[in-house]
Amino acid sequence: MLRGLMGDQPLLVSMCIRHAARNHADTEIVSRTVEGPIHRYTYAEAEQRARRAAKALLRLGVAPGDRVATMAWNTYRHFELYHAISGIGAVCHTINPVLSDEQIVYIFNHAADRLLFLESTFVPLIERLRPQLPADLRIVLLGEAETSLATVGLYEDLVAAETDTFDWPQFDERSASALCYTSGTTGKPKGVLYSHRSTMLHALGASLPGALAMSAADVVCPVVPMFHVCAWATPYTAPMNGTKLVYPGPKLDGASLYELFEAEGVTLGLGVPTVWLNFHNYLRDNNKNVTTLRGVASGGSAIPRSLLQAYEARGVVMLHAWGMTEMSPLGTTAALKAKHLRLDHEEQMRIRLTQGRPVLGVETKIIDGNGKALPHDGKTVGELLVRGPWITSAYYNDEEATRKAVEPDGWFHTGDVASIDPDGYIQLTDRLKDVIKSGGEWISSIDLENAAMAHEGVAEAAVIAISHPKWGERPLLLVTARAGSRPGHDDIIALLAKRFPKWMLPDDVVVLDELPHTGTGKVLKSRLREMFADYKVNV
Ligand code: AMP
Repeated sequence: MLRGLMGDQPLLVSMCIRHAARNHADTEIVSRTVEGPIHRYTYAEAEQRARRAAKALLRLGVAPGDRVATMAWNTYRHFELYHAISGIGAVCHTINPVLSDEQIVYIFNHAADRLLFLESTFVPLIERLRPQLPADLRIVLLGEAETSLATVGLYEDLVAAETDTFDWPQFDERSASALCYTSGTTGKPKGVLYSHRSTMLHALGASLPGALAMSAADVVCPVVPMFHVCAWATPYTAPMNGTKLVYPGPKLDGASLYELFEAEGVTLGLGVPTVWLNFHNYLRDNNKNVTTLRGVASGGSAIPRSLLQAYEARGVVMLHAWGMTEMSPLGTTAALKAKHLRLDHEEQMRIRLTQGRPVLGVETKIIDGNGKALPHDGKTVGELLVRGPWITSAYYNDEEATRKAVEPDGWFHTGDVASIDPDGYIQLTDRLKDVIKSGGEWISSIDLENAAMAHEGVAEAAVIAISHPKWGERPLLLVTARAGSRPGHDDIIALLAKRFPKWMLPDDVVVLDELPHTGTGKVLKSRLREMFADYKVNV
């Protein structure tokens, strides 16, 4: 083989912030702080402070490979930490504060974090859990807080005590850069350990047109938290592309986001469907319009058709994206192709509501129960497997979980059930554990849920399997009502009957006050299955 003769600089996360400081020096990062006021500075200043923070980490004895935890909101300080920690070869371990106590304790101990950068909001949580956390874990406070915790001081003091002279070190691009634990609805959390190389390739892939592209003329607001899958790579893609960053801090309600979007000229937002639903409800109820927003990316769970339509009516393109913690997270986006532009609106909607087609670097396939590959015909449904340079090849220090999820040739079992069409668009029908197997046929819980949510009286819907002596399993529909309405069993079933054959219709509909949710806002179906384990349908 003839080797190419090109530069061989390692792909390191520090490239992003160095690039932004040199070429987009005066582009801003604006944050709503935890204390309240808006903070504003530039990429040049952010890089300077990240250098100081990097020196402070070294002074505290942090070595390459050490796990350094953060428990913080989306603000400039968290941005600096992402770059300071990874920049010196340590591992930026973002911890999701909304997980259960048990999960948080497990994660701290499993990762064996050396240091924790703690937002004042979460001080009471860590005070409560401190006795169960590693004894040698040291804590730095990100903001002033009254606390009984022993700390090594305030982040601002550590940064102020350092000078700016620091060169970002060069090292192997395969070194770990960040660590995120998945918050599965069952079992222990599992650690996904990103490398500098995977992070950079993912950020480049995510920046492609049709993916989560952003330019130096954009203003991006990552509503998705930096404590969940690195805020979909925005700490890297924004500086990489010279994009102005707007951080919402702890205020994610419609009114606060609207004020920030309008004041800062946000053009692009990233978040889960619930965020976009709340934002839309705020705009509708208060008769407001967005004047600069042109696109929002929505992922994490399926988007209801009504939501896509609501944004379309405002002239905002909602891009449906699918991925997971194990995929850094981006896998697919539902961007249209040229040939789709000739289709009628309804057909275009159908494509935009799929989970989308892969970004370069993500391979997909579906398999049956025996591991046999199934056709990409847009109809056949199977378990979805993925492979690529930013998809996990093993869980951190967890051989058992790795054995279950990763094939020897690198294919990763997503646990999602989907079809793939000849153009590569995937359509998720379920999580493998949520699918309803009735008389040998599969019934999609997601399809039924989406259809039920189209009922004007239904706020949220979940379909679970209940056991049945003849059919094995049958679907049970659980809904919550919109304020002021009382959706009736017969109405909902009549609505579903327009779209589904009789055998797919839920055996019963139960209206609940609320549905249980996971820490990341997904319906906790394992809890619903426990609650309705003995449910008998009256026939
Ligand atoms: P997490 O690792 O917490 O980000 O969760 C990943 C899981 O969320 C995926 O395996 C899917 O089951 C679900 N998910 C993510 N994006 C979507 C989407 N666009 N539509 C439906 N489910 C999704």
